[in-house]
Amino acid sequence: MGIFNKDGRLNIPLSKREKNKSSASEDEVRYIVDQAYCPKGCTIIDTAHEINGSPGLKIKFKRPGMEGEFVISALEGDFDKIILSGTLADGVKDELYCPHCGVAFEKLINCNCKTDADMVVIGLTPTLDFNNAISFCNVTGCDNGTFVKSGHVLRHIRLKHSS
Ligand SMILES: [Zn+2]
Ligand SMILES: [Zn+2]
Repeated sequence: MGIFNKDGRLNIPLSKREKNKSSASEDEVRYIVDQAYCPKGCTIIDTAHEINGSPGLKIKFKRPGMEGEFVISALEGDFDKIILSGTLADGVKDELYCPHCGVAFEKLINCNCKTDADMVVIGLTPTLDFNNAISFCNVTGCDNGTFVKSGHVLRHIRLKHSS
C-alpha cells in the first residue's frame, strides 16, 4: 500500500516499485537524470558509482566538524545513496558543493522541514537554468531528500501561495 507524502504524490518504496516493473506507465513516470552539472559547469555524474542501475550524482558535503562526499541516486524518488567519506547525521543539514571545483550549489527555496533547511539545485545543463534542474533538501532524512524537478517545486510554491 502506498502512502501519500506532503506533496500529494504516492510514495512507494523502491523495492515495491521494482516488483511492479511490468507496468509501462510506471517506467515513464520515473525520471532518470543522465546529465548533471555544478554551477560552474563540471559534470557530477559519477560512472564509477551506480545506484540501482544508473550512475549516481557525486556531491561534496560540509557542516561544522565534518566533511565528506556522497553519491545520490539518479532515479527520481530513490533515497538510496553511497557515502564515499565522512558521515551524515539524521535531521542535520549539510552545505553541498561540487566535488571537482568546490563551488557551492545554488538554493531554490527553503524546505519546510526546518527553518534553515534549503532545497539545493543541481542543473541538468552546463549553464544553470532553474527551470531545467532538479532540487532536493539538504537535511538528512527529510521527506524531500530525494530530488524532484525544480519546475515542480516552483509550481507547488505557487499553488500554496494562491490557496
Ligand atoms: Zn564544479
Ligand atoms: Zn527538508
